[in-house]
Amino acid sequence: MTHEEILQVLKDSGALLEGHFILTSGLHSGQYIEKFRILEQPRYTEMLCKEIAGMYKNDKITAVAGPMTGGIIISYETARQLGVKSIFTERVEGKMKFRRGFTLSPSDNVLIVEDIITTGGSVKGVIEAVKSCGAKIAGLSCLVDRSNGEAKFDVPFNPLLVMNVVNYEPDECPLCKSGSVPVKPGSTNK
Ligand SMILES: [Zn+2]
Repeated sequence: MTHEEILQVLKDSGALLEGHFILTSGLHSGQYIEKFRILEQPRYTEMLCKEIAGMYKNDKITAVAGPMTGGIIISYETARQLGVKSIFTERVEGKMKFRRGFTLSPSDNVLIVEDIITTGGSVKGVIEAVKSCGAKIAGLSCLVDRSNGEAKFDVPFNPLLVMNVVNYEPDECPLCKSGSVPVKPGSTNK
């Protein structure tokens, strides 16, 4: 798939919203990605994970790992297509950990995946968790890197799509200045 086709999937699924939003960070933005509009549709998730799996099909991956919550779904579908196991990390007292008896050994070659990378904090936690098992990391992928180049990793990083999203401080927001009222995504039906 080309970048345009991936972007079209985001639009078709309703994941890419245009308007005036208050982000979790408190910043305002004209765009918002509601990843669960993709993750709730297995056909879209399958389509995009196929692209991730395709990039690593010759890398002898033995396991795919992602962070809770959305990363579980991306990990599961990518692993299904690669025919390997899928595991996930959860936050335990602020630290990303494998629980539920998930194990990796030094002979494992792991692909790490995530849905949307904004700060990269969760994914860094997964990288640490995999390293602490002594396993190798073949690479990291995600559906969208919207960190504006801020998320940097010490493993090869291959996002499907890089989106530069412009965020504004509330008192400098041109959308607010034009009289528009921002909404918190997820808090309304719009
Ligand atoms: Zn605003």
